Amino acid sequence: QAVVRFEDVHFAYHPERPILRGVSFSVPSGKTVAIVGPSGAGKSTLSRLLFRFYEPQSGRITIDGQDIAAVQQDSLRAAIGMVPQDTVLFNDTIGYNIRYGRWEASETEMREAARLAQIDRFIEGLPEGYDTPVGERGLKLSGGEKQRVAIARTILKGPPILVLDEATSALDSFTEREIQDALDRVAQGRTTLVIAHRLSTVVNADEILVLDRGVIVERGDHDGLLDQG
Ligand code: ADP
Ligand code: ADP
Repeated sequence: QAVVRFEDVHFAYHPERPILRGVSFSVPSGKTVAIVGPSGAGKSTLSRLLFRFYEPQSGRITIDGQDIAAVQQDSLRAAIGMVPQDTVLFNDTIGYNIRYGRWEASETEMREAARLAQIDRFIEGLPEGYDTPVGERGLKLSGGEKQRVAIARTILKGPPILVLDEATSALDSFTEREIQDALDRVAQGRTTLVIAHRLSTVVNADEILVLDRGVIVERGDHDGLLDQG
């Protein structure tokens, strides 16, 4: 488990245009914190800073009290699992895509991850099962199926920290519900940062922060924020 903390983080891609203007919050060990807010608010920028794709101009980001400025990007990638909104799978088999990054996983572990991601029955119904090629020259999966393969990969990888970036926004509402259930299972017991633009997708978060133009303007739980309108 791990505690993620942002302390008075200021960030700008270009000096004349501040994107994050003093953002502070923490994600307690094993809890889920959601960041919601309009497009352009700076939500995805937060996750890019967490992976050290960029460095804050001031303030700091810590994991278990350690400033990530002193942590190698590779270690961050190992510790933080990411389910992005648009999953791009490798042009290889479904099994390869689930095992990616954890090649030593057994067949049983792979199947268990697929089961938790609720993609096992779909895969087992295919003539070639886990050996089915996907991508450009293979089977074309729907957005929801790709997401579930990505979720299975993340479950297998088992990172202590999880970032879900608008993970269901590209899906229709029926698929979204199913993916949400799978994501809730992955997030269970992990330190999770969810990035979303709608309150309706983060019902289960322990805390919700509303980010607007680089500033946290509200914080509360789902029902509390709804009451305030
Ligand atoms: P959100 O995820 O809330 O939609 P982002 O963090 O993606 O917001 O973007 C916040 C602002 O930063 C936007 O105005 C966006 O145009 C700008 N921005 C994002 N990425 C870059 C970049 N690489 N270079 C310059 N500006 C960027
Ligand atoms: P993987 O397929 O194992 O996710 P990648 O090379 O695609 O491998 O990325 C390694 C890790 O880096 C990802 O698991 C994710 O945690 C992180 N990562 C990759 N791309 C992004 C991104 N655009 N934003 C945030 N994190 C990313």
